[in-house]
Amino acid sequence: MLKINENFIKLPQSYLFVDIARKVQQFAEAHPEKTIIKMGIGDVTKPLPKAVVEAMKKAADEMGQAETFRGYGPENGYAFLREAIAENDYRKHGIDIAPDEIFVSDGAKSDTGSIGDIFAVDNVVAVCDPVYPVYIDTNVMAGRGGEYNDQTGWSKIVYMPCTEETNFLPEIPKEPVDVIYLCFPNNPSGVGITREALQQWVDYANEHQAVILYDAAYEAFITEDLPHSIYEIEGAHTCAIEFRSFSKTAGFTGTRCAFTVIPKALQFQGVSLNALWNRRQSTKMNGVSYVVQRGAEAVYSPEGQKEIQENIAYYLNNAKIIREGLTAAGFTAYGGVNSPYVWLKTPDGMTSWEFFDLLLEKTGIVGTPGSGFGLNGEGFFRLTAFNTLENTKAAIQRITDYFRK
Ligand SMILES: *Cc1c(COP(=O)(O)O)cnc(C)c1O
Repeated sequence: MLKINENFIKLPQSYLFVDIARKVQQFAEAHPEKTIIKMGIGDVTKPLPKAVVEAMKKAADEMGQAETFRGYGPENGYAFLREAIAENDYRKHGIDIAPDEIFVSDGAKSDTGSIGDIFAVDNVVAVCDPVYPVYIDTNVMAGRGGEYNDQTGWSKIVYMPCTEETNFLPEIPKEPVDVIYLCFPNNPSGVGITREALQQWVDYANEHQAVILYDAAYEAFITEDLPHSIYEIEGAHTCAIEFRSFSKTAGFTGTRCAFTVIPKALQFQGVSLNALWNRRQSTKMNGVSYVVQRGAEAVYSPEGQKEIQENIAYYLNNAKIIREGLTAAGFTAYGGVNSPYVWLKTPDGMTSWEFFDLLLEKTGIVGTPGSGFGLNGEGFFRLTAFNTLENTKAAIQRITDYFRK
């Protein structure tokens, strides 16, 4: 008789975005005269850069001609893209990463979610709290979660509180951990990490034979002097895997292209993680479409770079308006400098959901309750910079009118 993977049954349903959608709909029905401004968007809104679209059109034409048609490509990406990534994202910045240390994929969600395939089930996993839920749920599916409790979370997962007291950075756990997920600039808090702070994690991982899974999906939003890659840190090549994505950087959320970096120096028990991941990927996937990889390559062209920088600057300007507007209105707000996310502290000790309801009722603005990202997200609220400049300004005006003392 078939037995299902019981770990899936243990996973509590995530109602976060369902609950938000229901509340927004109720509000819209009760107040048809009010315009709702969505500041909970976790998706880019600017179209693809023209250079990317042109490259994809050209590639599509090639696919329609017998002479230039391509069937299955290399599982881990075409050489033209792996070389462009190695050169532009790493070597140009003095970081030693070779094309065969880069694995092109359809997304950082798939990669951060699947990487656990190459690690034993009995490893101890450490995550930040609040956190991007993919890291936890995929480890639970694999059997690394233990039992779930509403008040404390998963019994086998080590939660690293990222609170106001820690400047929203995780502290090294007291108990031994084997797999450490870090994401900087962070989703949801929007904060970045300094080289000095990241160095401590790299030193810890090397000393304890742990691996760091570094999600750098938002590196392109960095404006201050912070590391864009964990490989800027001495010793990272022997303890860290880095995940990057064209999603937020270049508007690829619907187009799908990302990459994972596994240095050949990353070895445990004499086994290369690069070789294991290569084995995993070439067994379970057949690569990313040629057309999309040509589009991703065009991100690195001078025109592509100019266009993506303009889009990122547009989002960052919205983030600045949100952060400064909230601060002027009397809120305590974090993030929004090296990130499209602003993390605000709810006023008067309100819970995240109480503030959600108040904000929607009084201003028609929708954000994301921090408690949806973990126990330590309670009392916080995420606003995103992905709406238009006009809507962002209007939202801050409404918040100012209602909250300013
Ligand atoms: C958006 C996001 C990603 C990117 O995921 P893709 O699958 O590449 O679109 C990765 N990590 C975090 C934390 C994100 O917010």
